[in-house]
Amino acid sequence: MNDMTTRQLPNKIVICGAPYDVEIVKNLRGEKNQKIDGWIRMGMQKVMIDADLNPFMKWQVMFHEVVHGIVEICNLKHIGEQKVDTIAYGIMSVLTSMEWIEPPLHEALLTAEQYEKWLASGGIGGRDRQNYP
Ligand SMILES: [Zn+2]
Repeated sequence: MNDMTTRQLPNKIVICGAPYDVEIVKNLRGEKNQKIDGWIRMGMQKVMIDADLNPFMKWQVMFHEVVHGIVEICNLKHIGEQKVDTIAYGIMSVLTSMEWIEPPLHEALLTAEQYEKWLASGGIGGRDRQNYP
């Protein structure tokens, strides 16, 4: 098994042809000093990920921020956090199916119906967040 969750995140990624530094940051804070999991700084070409996330979530948040980057670069603004997160999970599921990522146990145990319900509730950023990583 090629377990991506045990691998370090890359130091650099390329989004639509532009290089971005990936930084793991302790106690990551947003523009209003609120606690956040990830942040893409387009002008600085940086993707910042909170250090306290579990390994799977660091990858998920990285892809979430990558989707924000693609949306911004392609001028598809205002698609909303839930859609960004859903697309990020879509990418994650493809990578998981290719055995690039080991899914966390609770997600591996979700039925398709439970997964749909979870997505409908807002997924990882939704109101049931406390029940999931
Ligand atoms: Zn977001």
